[in-house]
Amino acid sequence: MHPTRKLTIIGQDPSVRVRGRIVTAKIEVPVERLGEGPRGYRVYVVDYDASAGRMYKPLPAEAMGSAADPRDPFAGRGGKAQSFNKRLLTDPRFHAQNVYALIMRTLAHFERALGRRLSWSFGGHQIKVAPHAFAEPNAFYSRAAEGLFFGYFAGPDGPVYTCLSHDIIVHETTHALVDGLRPRLMEPSSPDQAAFHEAFADVVALLSVFSIPEVLEEAVRQATRSITSGMLRVAGLTSAALQEGMLFGLGEQYGDVLSGVHGSSLRRSVRLTPKRGLLERPEYQEEHRRGEILVAAMLHAFMKVYRDRLETLGKDANGKLPAVRMAEEGADVASRMLTMSIRALDYLPPTDLEFGDVLSALITSDLELRPDDSRYRVRDALRSSFESFGIRPTSAYSADGEFGCWEPPQILRAKGGRQKRPLKIDYEGVHRESLQRDPDEVFRFLWENRQVLGLCEEAFTRVAAVRPVLRVDEDGFWLRETVADYVRILTLPAGELKGLRIPGKRQRIQAPKGLSKRTEVRLLGGGALLFDEFGKLKYHIRNALLNPARQTRRLEHLHASGYFDATPRERGFAALHLKGMLPELRPVTREADRW
Ligand SMILES: [Zn+2]
Repeated sequence: MHPTRKLTIIGQDPSVRVRGRIVTAKIEVPVERLGEGPRGYRVYVVDYDASAGRMYKPLPAEAMGSAADPRDPFAGRGGKAQSFNKRLLTDPRFHAQNVYALIMRTLAHFERALGRRLSWSFGGHQIKVAPHAFAEPNAFYSRAAEGLFFGYFAGPDGPVYTCLSHDIIVHETTHALVDGLRPRLMEPSSPDQAAFHEAFADVVALLSVFSIPEVLEEAVRQATRSITSGMLRVAGLTSAALQEGMLFGLGEQYGDVLSGVHGSSLRRSVRLTPKRGLLERPEYQEEHRRGEILVAAMLHAFMKVYRDRLETLGKDANGKLPAVRMAEEGADVASRMLTMSIRALDYLPPTDLEFGDVLSALITSDLELRPDDSRYRVRDALRSSFESFGIRPTSAYSADGEFGCWEPPQILRAKGGRQKRPLKIDYEGVHRESLQRDPDEVFRFLWENRQVLGLCEEAFTRVAAVRPVLRVDEDGFWLRETVADYVRILTLPAGELKGLRIPGKRQRIQAPKGLSKRTEVRLLGGGALLFDEFGKLKYHIRNALLNPARQTRRLEHLHASGYFDATPRERGFAALHLKGMLPELRPVTREADRW
């Protein structure tokens, strides 16, 4: 374990109060030698306000103590509620500490879950963070400006700062981290892929908020309508009540102020009740709305696991449990699901995601590290919750009674045929050592095995990343492996799609109706490769470039959303931000360019 420091943060946002007092928490972040700001080795706070043209006073380095003797400058919780709140709300140095701590905590969650250091997509080591970037009700991540920017605006009870909202900070940080990990997920593709970035950022934000016992305790108190007692009735915590309590934990009022800008989709997801067929409805074709379904499926699984856990705990004669105990149990479930969600990123195909892929990735990544799920039964809860929203795992494979996990390559379906037969993967000439870090070595492996792995020769393949990982479970169980991903690109005029032969298949990729034959289209495919510690391929999770059904669907969706009507320059922008996606990015770039 690395040494950590404890820092005070606002548990959710300033609107969540108990007896008039803002709910705060102390969180642990990796200890480091901080500069004024705070400025650290990954997060570099520069408190410049572009709207006011002013620089705020930074938090002095001395206030944070040294690496050997770290200090929390805002540790004091005493005093009257009013003065306590005022101090947190009005001191920009606390705002700087709040963003720093929550970004570092999110980064640490990702690095621990994935078992390796993560890079930002823009190549630099430090992400710039402006806690009071502009006077607008908005916050955004910008790849071009290499930073996270948090706005502020006038609310009914004084200024509202997005840099004091836990879920907004984590949401934006997650965009930045996923962009570093899987940059192709920003490419225009299916409606599910467009929805994924937003939904995943919301899932991480939601679980991050509820992994803090102080916040969950208030949510549970609200749900059981117990304000004073230290003991709460477990039976009162029905799913519906818990759902309402969650909204309290998320500072619903604050969400209303931001409504239509940000955070409203997270709060809407909490209200969504399971129904099959939602994904087909016209209103859920829009990416943000569509993302709510994925978030709701995760949230319902969380509530199920949490409720079931509470049933197993020893209650008193009145069926009550201490509130603190109930909150700790829920925070544990949230932490566990947070880790599994982040881990699942390595088990996703790098292009053209669909929600079923996300479910298969969640099941597989969790199964790898926690084969025994009898205590929490998270995987069962996920399968049934996703099913209740009409999402089934992409993989129909079962291992040890676990339906929906990805198939190991040894028994992958033989090309085109129904029969399964073992794949003969050739490791001859591949160097195990360099396979752990060298993209050329991984490419050689792919090239040598292109036939058995089903890679056509027409397209170019690029190995995008290779990383050795060491994942350690809370129980100390470790898993050493190498993850690599590659993308395949084929650009051709729409008129030539028909002539593209697809081995083993009779169908062809169809050009969308009404698209000029001369329009250039780009087909994308790719895969994630997971090697075990001996360099043997464990999983090959991919979307084939020459998949007639998926590619036809994708091109139709892009055509319908006007992608091919755009000029190449606009398309470049769309490729980066996706049409209609990450709207919080849009008004920003202008402001951010001043950096
Ligand atoms: Zn977002």
